[in-house]
Amino acid sequence: MNTRTRNTTRIGAIAASLAVCGAFAIATPAQAAPVVDTRELRDAVTVEGVMTHLDALQAIADANGDNRAAGTPGHVASLDYMQGLLDAAGYDTWTQEFTYERTDFGASALQQTAPNAVDYVLGVDFFPMDFSGEGDVTASVTVVDVNLSGDHATTSGCEAADFVGFPAGDIALIQRGTCNFSVKADNAIAAGAAGVIIFNQGNVVPGDDRLGLFGGTLDPPVRPIPVVSAPYALGAEWATTDGLELRLNLEAEVVQVTTENLFADTPTGRTDRTVVVGGHLDSVAEGPGINDNGSGTAAILETALAMAELGIEPQNRVRFAFWSGEEDGLIGSSYYVSQLTPREIKDTALNLNFDMVGSTNAVNFVYDGDGDALGVSGPNGSGVIEDVFTDFFGSVGEPSEPTDFDGRSDYFGFIEAGIPAGGLFTGAEGIKSAEQAAIFGGTAGEPYDPCYHAACDDITNVDEDTLDLMADAIAHATLTFAETTSAVNGTGKGKAVGQIDWEFKGNRSLR
Ligand SMILES: [Zn+2]
Repeated sequence: MNTRTRNTTRIGAIAASLAVCGAFAIATPAQAAPVVDTRELRDAVTVEGVMTHLDALQAIADANGDNRAAGTPGHVASLDYMQGLLDAAGYDTWTQEFTYERTDFGASALQQTAPNAVDYVLGVDFFPMDFSGEGDVTASVTVVDVNLSGDHATTSGCEAADFVGFPAGDIALIQRGTCNFSVKADNAIAAGAAGVIIFNQGNVVPGDDRLGLFGGTLDPPVRPIPVVSAPYALGAEWATTDGLELRLNLEAEVVQVTTENLFADTPTGRTDRTVVVGGHLDSVAEGPGINDNGSGTAAILETALAMAELGIEPQNRVRFAFWSGEEDGLIGSSYYVSQLTPREIKDTALNLNFDMVGSTNAVNFVYDGDGDALGVSGPNGSGVIEDVFTDFFGSVGEPSEPTDFDGRSDYFGFIEAGIPAGGLFTGAEGIKSAEQAAIFGGTAGEPYDPCYHAACDDITNVDEDTLDLMADAIAHATLTFAETTSAVNGTGKGKAVGQIDWEFKGNRSLR
């Protein structure tokens, strides 16, 4: 059964852009990873092989309502496909089941009932936050400590003191900024608000849209009242309207999703230096998810099959991971890390993450492990991983560019646990700059992936040259760390929890 109803509202591509913030400074070791000869494996990992798996995933989507989302038959069939091939190749495969709640929104409305009568448009003027509750509220609006001028710096709703004298039963009008949406919403709920609107901040942050409508998340659990986002201009207008009364109506269905992560372990290799090579196998509900993330999972699968075919017995155990629930907020990978014992966390050498590696208007992004380019570094050892990728691209005469750890993919749980991480990304809804087009080709002013989280993310939405290069890079890094992790060996494992002030959880903004 497809647990997502057809008239459900889900916008995936609203939350955009990278942000450079948070502080996580630990010195990176000067060591580099020893050079491992990976030519034989790279020759064995072909783009034809990767495309065969993508064809299979497309056929699975075709047969299952055009998607492969977590909790649907399309995801189960995708998992079965991967597991069958990995079993046959001699891997120890296993699955890990988990259950979570997701809110799917039905018909939703926002209207001004006083002083004027205005109907607002879902997806243009407002959007439900993930983990909002439902409700039909008509109430006066109370403005909470906003700043509509100058630099728009604000702590609106971040402190309980912002709600002193708040009339219980009102709708709280709050401005984005400083603290997480969850903090603002929970303070409003504690003050007796019947509904919450968080409007964009209206400040200027390069590369970030602080004016338009955005997609936010409150993180679990589901809240008892409706919480929506709104664009800055509308929020500013409401904040200066006397006698404002709004009707906010959200219909929400809490859906229980039960799904599984899939793992394939090499039968040999040091288990105290486990290398986790992962990507998410679930798609969004809106499409077959061939670039996001059939591409990463197909390239990982092809690497695993080629290693087995060549009879490679790695020094370190490699655990190939096919996460589920990523599109609902990195659920599967976070669950996996949460179930590790302190010993198992120490025995996890590193995490490689591959999420979208065949974008049609690609940039060869490498996660900025040492933070030297963008200021947010991963745990100690992540810089070595970045170097392995950067050196690889250099060795084959291809350019690459750093991208920051912002919380948008499955490295999140590993980094939270202090485990070094790295990986590749060829771009989602972000817009290619003229500088990037000059270096990487493609079209400036257009998204890296024009079909991000859309129905057109099908078998025609991958660039085979990009996929070929990325598959080689994946094979190279996997084998490099399978044969040696001494240079990586993070020293922050189990100690780093909560030190990064994440901007995103999956594809939704946290603040
Ligand atoms: Zn993805």
